[in-house]
Formats: sequence, structure tokens, C-alpha cells
Amino acid sequence: MIRDPQKLQNLLSEVRAYVREQWHPLENTVEQLDHVPDDIVQDLRERGFFGWSIPEAYGGLGLSTEELILAAFELSQASVALRARVGTNTGIGSEALVADGTEAQKQRWLPRMATGELTGCLALTEPDAGSEASNVQTTARLEGDHYVLDGRKCYITNAPIADVFTVVARTEPGTKGSSGLSAFIVERGTPGLRTGPAYKKMGQAGSPVSDVFFENCRVPVGNLIGGQEGVGFKTIMKVLNKQRLHLSALCTGPAIRMLDLAMEHTQNRQQFGKAVGNFQLLQAMVADSQTEIYAAQSMILEAARARDRGEDVALTASMCKYFASEMCGRVADRCVQMFGGAGYVADFSPIERYYRDVRLFRLYEGTSQIHQMNIAKLVLREHGAT
Ligand SMILES: Cc1cc2nc3c(=O)[nH]c(=O)nc-3n(C[C@H](O)[C@H](O)[C@H](O)COP(=O)(O)OP(=O)(O)OC[C@H]3O[C@@H](n4cnc5c(N)ncnc54)[C@H](O)[C@@H]3O)c2cc1C
Repeated sequence: MIRDPQKLQNLLSEVRAYVREQWHPLENTVEQLDHVPDDIVQDLRERGFFGWSIPEAYGGLGLSTEELILAAFELSQASVALRARVGTNTGIGSEALVADGTEAQKQRWLPRMATGELTGCLALTEPDAGSEASNVQTTARLEGDHYVLDGRKCYITNAPIADVFTVVARTEPGTKGSSGLSAFIVERGTPGLRTGPAYKKMGQAGSPVSDVFFENCRVPVGNLIGGQEGVGFKTIMKVLNKQRLHLSALCTGPAIRMLDLAMEHTQNRQQFGKAVGNFQLLQAMVADSQTEIYAAQSMILEAARARDRGEDVALTASMCKYFASEMCGRVADRCVQMFGGAGYVADFSPIERYYRDVRLFRLYEGTSQIHQMNIAKLVLREHGAT
């Protein structure tokens, strides 16, 4: 953890300047290449950005949740694909090991994930396990000193480029739901592990997502996370509770950036003899967007601090993810409106790309409907409902 406030401010200033100077001019290139250039990835490694959330003992920066959130607000004020390149290592791709890995497992994989030598990913979703995430059909059968994995995962961010996969599979045949699930680390190159080609997506070009196939894939018993069967879903819920706060922050940065772009445009674009930003109907959109961004920042920070105090954030993390992702969608829509026709045409503004990129936020890591249900369930429980 950065215990020195000055050190934290230095990091935030570095990220802020880096995003503006290096990433903003690159956004169109990444969209066209559908790839984050290798020299950028190398720069991210050298800056230590892959290791933000990995403990210092394993070569990372060991940021607290609050510090990670503050850094994520800054990092995400650029094309989503750019921050997604490091995002699995600072989130879902390493967190299962951080939360529940054995010491040997942490020593083996975390230092190389912290430097960015290895890219991690989380393979939970399957064709029949989407919102019903515990309906995992991938099996892991113990045979001697190996587990044999069979099954298919889908929609896995960074799978095409990942070196290590956190995989959830059913170790207890005949079980249903979250019991009988275990989490494994599977390394690229393990015979029987194969990734499909990157999907053609609505947005986030440059952030590769694909299927992952396990066919008689033999994984050493030492790769069972925590060395314990049947607790894989609990591990994943720990990962997701933290990740929901992290993702909420990553939904807020693009909203800040889109509003910045809209402010610039509306101050320059003249109609009826004045800048369109002078019209009060547009100003209402600015006010609503800025207010919602501030609300998201405030609730995410408060929830992050609560997590750092060791409090249960299942409810607050769900509320943050629901609010921040929906907020970002509303801000994107208003910004297209403020840009007029230029907001719809990629040749004239980056807003069209942002609008498509941020649409995913309301779908992954729990759709808005799943979060609404989760929030209601937890509130009802607090009120004694059964
Ligand atoms: C680009 C991308 C990247 C992703 N990255 C990853 C990743 O890295 N790792 C990973 O494991 N997964 C990943 N996912 C998967 C993602 O988390 C799932 O797509 C998401 O959880 C929704 O599941 P689904 O697509 O099967 O939708 P479904 O579950 O089929 O939902 C369809 C609709 O039904 C609604 N719905 C479902 N159940 C209910 C209910 N009980 N009540 C009310 N409404 C309901 C949903 O809200 C949605 O509107 C990614 C997905 C995408 C598209």
C-alpha cells in the first residue's frame, strides 16, 4: 500500500499526464489496429501499471481499494481498450490468487503478473452460465496428481493473449449451483487448453475477447487455488466484490472524458450566432452529467474506504456497479446529443466510439438486472424478509 500521501499524489499525477499525453493521441490507432501496440504494453510494464493491486511482497504496488479506485478514475479517462490491457492483471485475472492462493501459488504467478510478463484472465462464464454464473458445466476430474478439465468458457476478456487463466470448474459430480465448484490456475501451453479467435464486437476494439476450450486438459493438483476443493465460488465472489468497485471506477473515467470532450465541443460549435454551450437546454445535460459523475465518484470512494476498513461491501459494491455503469450510459447518450451529428460520425469525433465502448459496462460482471435483484435481495434481508 502507498502509505505516503505524496507518493500517491505522484502516481495519480503520473497517470493523469500519461493518459493525456500518450493515450489520447493513440485512441484511433488502437481502434483501427484492433490491438494495443507492443511498445505501449512495454511502457505499461516499465511503469509498473500491471501490478497496482498485487501486494508488495509479490512485486506489486499493493494499492488499497481506495488508492486503486483513485488511480482507476484517472486511467480510464481514455479509450476503454487501453486500460483493459492492464485491467485483468489489476483485477479479475490476479485477484483469486491474491485473495485465496496458497503461498506457493502466489510466489509462482503473482510476481510475473505484477511486472506484466504474464497476462491473466478470469474464465467463469459459459454458454449456460451467464447471469446464472454458478451453473458451471465445465468439469475437473481428479486423476492421480492431476485434474482433468473438460468444458467451454465464453466471453473471456484477454483470453486470446492471456498466459494464465483463473478457471472455475465443477469438481464434485452431481452437484448443482455454487457448491462443488473449484477454482484453478491453468497456464497457456497446457495440452488441451485452446482459445478461440477474438470476437467481432460492438465496441472496445483492441480489447480481445474469446472462447476458451478445455479438452482433456491435465492440470497439476498444485494449481487448485487455495489447495481446497468446493470453495471456488466463494473465491470468485471475493474477486467480484472487489472488482465491482474497481469496475465502477472504470465506468466513471470514460464519463469524465466524454463530458470534457462535450464541453470543448459545445464551447466551440456556433449556431444562432453563439456557442451552443450557451443554450440552457444543453446546460441541463451538462449539469445532469456532472452531478451523476460526482455521485458515482462519491459512492465508489465511500464503498472503497469501507472495504479497506474490512466491512462487508456486497451491497454497496453492487449499488456502485449498477449506478456507475448506468450513469456512464446516460452520460454517453447526452454527449452524443451535445455533439449533434458529429457525435454520430467517427470521422468527426471520438464520442461515437465511446458510446459503443461503454455499452458493455451494463452487461458484464453482472448485468444491471442482476445487480438490481442483488441489491433488493440484500435490502430485503436486512429488513428481515425471508
Ligand atoms: C465483451 C465481454 C467481455 C466479458 N468478459 C468476461 C470475462 O472476462 N470473464 C467472464 O467470466 N465473463 C465475461 N463476460 C461475460 C459476462 O459477465 C456475461 O455476458 C454477463 O454476466 C451476462 O450473461 P449472459 O451474456 O449469458 O446474459 P444472460 O444471462 O443470458 O441475460 C440475458 C438478459 O436476461 C437478463 N436476466 C437474466 N437473468 C435474469 C433474472 N433472474 N432476472 C432478470 N433478468 C435476468 C439479463 O439481465 C439480460 O438482460 C464478458 C462478456 C462480454 C460481452
